[in-house]
Amino acid sequence: MELIVEDAEFVTMAPARGSEARGSEARGSEARGSEAGATGSGTAGRGAAGSSGAQGMLVRDGRIAAIGPAAAVRAAAAPGAATVRLDGATVVPGLIDAHCHVMNVGYLAAGADCSQPSAPDIAAIQARLRAAAAPTPAGSWVTGSGYVEYKLAEQRHPTRAELDAAVPDRPAVIYHTSLHACVLNSAALREAGFADGQPDPPDGAFGRDEQGRLTGVVFEGPMFRVFADRLRDDLAGMDAAARGRVVRRAGQRLASLGITAACDADLRCPTLAAYAEADADGALSQRIYGLTVHDQVDELVRSGMGGRRSGRLAAQAVKIWADGGMSSRTAAIHGTYPVPPYGSGIMYFEPAELTAMVRDFDARGFQVCVHAQGDRAIEITLDAYARVLAGKPGNPGRHRIEHGGAMYPALTARAAELGIVLVSQPGFLSGLGDGFAAAFGDQADQLYAFRSWRQAGITVAGSSDAPVITPDPLTGIRDAIVRRTAGGRVLGPDERLAARDALALYTAGGAYAMRRESEIGSLEPGKLADFTVLDRNPLTVDPEQIAGIQVLATVVDGAPTHRGGGVAFPEG
Ligand SMILES: [Zn+2]
Repeated sequence: MELIVEDAEFVTMAPARGSEARGSEARGSEARGSEAGATGSGTAGRGAAGSSGAQGMLVRDGRIAAIGPAAAVRAAAAPGAATVRLDGATVVPGLIDAHCHVMNVGYLAAGADCSQPSAPDIAAIQARLRAAAAPTPAGSWVTGSGYVEYKLAEQRHPTRAELDAAVPDRPAVIYHTSLHACVLNSAALREAGFADGQPDPPDGAFGRDEQGRLTGVVFEGPMFRVFADRLRDDLAGMDAAARGRVVRRAGQRLASLGITAACDADLRCPTLAAYAEADADGALSQRIYGLTVHDQVDELVRSGMGGRRSGRLAAQAVKIWADGGMSSRTAAIHGTYPVPPYGSGIMYFEPAELTAMVRDFDARGFQVCVHAQGDRAIEITLDAYARVLAGKPGNPGRHRIEHGGAMYPALTARAAELGIVLVSQPGFLSGLGDGFAAAFGDQADQLYAFRSWRQAGITVAGSSDAPVITPDPLTGIRDAIVRRTAGGRVLGPDERLAARDALALYTAGGAYAMRRESEIGSLEPGKLADFTVLDRNPLTVDPEQIAGIQVLATVVDGAPTHRGGGVAFPEG
């Protein structure tokens, strides 16, 4: 089965080299790195505008058979090969989210779609909630998500009374697209324990009317707690069929954003079973690479579900949480936070305990992925990696640090030396950056130091941590380039990346972080035909417009998992 893709601009990208291959020549060789990227994999290099110069690509049996000048590609195809003409669109390697809470994304996507413009006003949101109530199992809250108050016709948040009118007799919640606010109906307010006379907590606020009565809108801390509780209770209460539906919804949502592969950052055995079932049905829309939660690993091994199960599903990594998060000011830092709840954050393990866990999982052949956000947590994690990797240069297990937000220069040098892979979230800059700035004061400009990390020779993968923020990789790519917070501050202007390096986070970097760089992450002959079709080229448009680029098609193994914008892509 052959398919010619043509009349497009191809951004081929180059595979990440990793620390084994780069050694000392990588230090400070940024110019060379960019140049190597600009000529892609060496196909017909034009380079200057950031594309490869290729105008055609031949897909054979799910792999890239040829890419280059249109005439050469056509000549390589068998007679009768199907042709897709993309009308000047841009083809990039399939986008990879290297740290994402896939089930949670599916959980939100399975609820009512309250996003604009699809639900233009509050009446439309009410109608969506009414429709969502019937299939919502008893005991679960009726859930919607995606609204933005200033995009609604009313230009404000809906109220509890408006939600009560749609869902009068059971709890209902709609989450703001930022996941920093939500609206509860009266039953949900009661169940969450929120009452009219109650003062605002130190880490958040309640919306109130002129009489001081709760409007149902909840901001920040108490909203995070509502969301975490709902997720835990609702997912735990699901049977296998319901979990399977969540997997499919997650896949559709991620595919609509151009995502062809994702690391599930807290894989548990029941979730893996749901993925495996979807995979067997041919219903997995991404390649899923599981980071199994550390206390589930024994069960994973016992059940025989670990390892690489298929081209689309693997559970070969382990997730350990070293510390908390920056938004909640629980990331473990040196010094103390200047904002509530003050303190210096939380470490979940003693250093010796963390080292023993890393050593054990490394010895059992797992890739170890440690969540470490604050500089103290990163330091302790690097200490653990240094001990375990002594005598193993180049980090052969390809162990990772997840987030690494406060990886300051001395820590960056150590991580580079050890060959640690960093999986971070540029999209936090617009999504959460103002809160980070408040919590980190003078050091805020050193957070998420993408350019310094790159210059030090660290292989960095981009990711969203969704649903903490939107899973949209184009938002992350924009943020890596412009670094502007929602409040308008440019956080660490020296740490802005060039567009090509920002795209590399979500292609070559992601492939390397999930140990699939020989198969995905760049467009070159022999690799799997995973690619994303965009209506404009993210390397040449004004960076401010990148987040508005439309995903016209998402393709995995040569077959579309998403089609938008009228591209006539044949059925896979
Ligand atoms: Zn996470």
